[in-house]
Amino acid sequence: MPHDASDDDTRRRPRLRAIAQVGAPVLRSPTQQVSASALHRPEIQELIDDLIATMRHANGAGLAANQIFEPLRICAIEVGDNPRYPYKPKIPLTILVNPILTPIGEETFFNYEGCLSVPDLRGEVERSAQVRVQALSRSGEPLDFVTKGITAGTYQHECDHLDGKLFLDRVSDPSTLCTWANFRAHREREFRARVADVVARYGA
Ligand code: ZN
Repeated sequence: MPHDASDDDTRRRPRLRAIAQVGAPVLRSPTQQVSASALHRPEIQELIDDLIATMRHANGAGLAANQIFEPLRICAIEVGDNPRYPYKPKIPLTILVNPILTPIGEETFFNYEGCLSVPDLRGEVERSAQVRVQALSRSGEPLDFVTKGITAGTYQHECDHLDGKLFLDRVSDPSTLCTWANFRAHREREFRARVADVVARYGA
């Protein structure tokens, strides 16, 4: 009997999902916890596959499930050679389910953030320099680690989404708001120097 490759391929291919844009109510509602039993259901695992594919396709540093209209407490984070954020330290693919972030210490820094749900706008946001991350992995394993500096900023941005918050809510100085083109033209050089300073203090 001829071998049919599709017999082995029980998981469907990831789909690219639409990304909710600012003003969509799904971005403003806190997301729901995912139980350990629900996490193992195929539809949740497929949602996670779609989240990763959609994040990568859009060159995001992360993506939260409610950004693809699924109001669940799940987000993906990954930074490789990212054309949107060429200065960001690399982060291996990480899936957080039901994450809890706890700041460590009082130190903060100003991060220049953008968001796939906020087209063509960036702004400065104060972030904790070190945070403890507690979550489940996509297979239900407990995760507990500390993240620092620019990477800690990325974690805080994604977990804010799961609480119905956008980086815009945390921009204390609206004069820092700028388009991506104006960020590159007027802000990126200074910000890269700040990133180098933050990386020197807290590591990549
Ligand atoms: Zn975002």
